Amino acid sequence: MVVDPHCHDHDPEAEIWVGVRTPGTEVAERVTVIESTLRDLGHDVVPAREFDDAWLTHVHSAEVIDHLATVWDRWVAAGSPDLGAQRVVPYLFPSAELLHGLRRRLPTALHAEVGVYCYDTMTLIGPASWRAIRAATHAARSAVDLVASGTPTAYALTRPPGHHATRSSYGGSCYLNNAAIAAQALRENGFTRVAVIDIDAHHGNGTQAIFYERSDVFTTSVHVDPGAGWFPHYVGFADETGRDAGLGTNLNLPLAPGSGDQTWLSAVQRAADAASTFGATALVIALGVDAAVDDPESPLEVTADGYRRAGDALAALGLPTVAVQEGGYHLPTLGRLVGSALEGLATG
Ligand SMILES: [Zn+2]
Repeated sequence: MVVDPHCHDHDPEAEIWVGVRTPGTEVAERVTVIESTLRDLGHDVVPAREFDDAWLTHVHSAEVIDHLATVWDRWVAAGSPDLGAQRVVPYLFPSAELLHGLRRRLPTALHAEVGVYCYDTMTLIGPASWRAIRAATHAARSAVDLVASGTPTAYALTRPPGHHATRSSYGGSCYLNNAAIAAQALRENGFTRVAVIDIDAHHGNGTQAIFYERSDVFTTSVHVDPGAGWFPHYVGFADETGRDAGLGTNLNLPLAPGSGDQTWLSAVQRAADAASTFGATALVIALGVDAAVDDPESPLEVTADGYRRAGDALAALGLPTVAVQEGGYHLPTLGRLVGSALEGLATG
């Protein structure tokens, strides 16, 4: 288990969900309960090391990185907290219809600029968010280092999560895409073909988008059907299979609400089979456990035993594996769910 204490520092304080300010579920206590449960289960703890953030442009645009690194200080300088805006939150989005084909300019007003990069109202930024965002990337890259030097499987306790972040935008409580960063870092460590298997309850839209035109990284996601009314609503459908050189290297497996272990595990097996057919030489698991039966954020009803068996199925690929933490929001069971998945990975 690779940890970075700064992953606690991000305090979004709230999310604005359908117009309502709620406390939000992506809280620092998530990493506390996962880390303490995994320690109790006997997992080694490896501190993340520091990395040069300039490398992050291999996955994300320099613009969004600079935005994330500076927006809080600029928000304060603009006086927004004094006006009652205690967190950075967008209010206006440059949709395709608004622009009508015209060039998208960068707005002069910071409160308008936020909507260029942030695509929803749930993904707020506070005073120490950047410290946690970059710490999560360091944890992911440290896990890659372990695997590149011969450790068969490494788990990064990344928070905030990442799989909803695209190359140049953030949302869905994600800012930079830790799973994509792990995949790219594996590529640069000599693994020629990398598969990302995303078992978070929600579609890994950011990871899909980042690699959509690439033939060297296969992306697959098992998630609740966006067509049934679930986030991210606009993407995650079965007919999204990649584009140009990446055609055929994306597989979406949307599932009906209430699917439960058997249906979910069949989809995880399909994802694993597809990664094998692709000829993957290394694996990234986007390990969200919010498909669990008690989780408030999805209706997929997977059990802890289901997560253990998913770990088994993915371990059977026999690939060097980096698992990065994505969602999972039911604090009383969160640690045990992650522990079950990692148990399956270790013994499968
Ligand atoms: Zn999720």
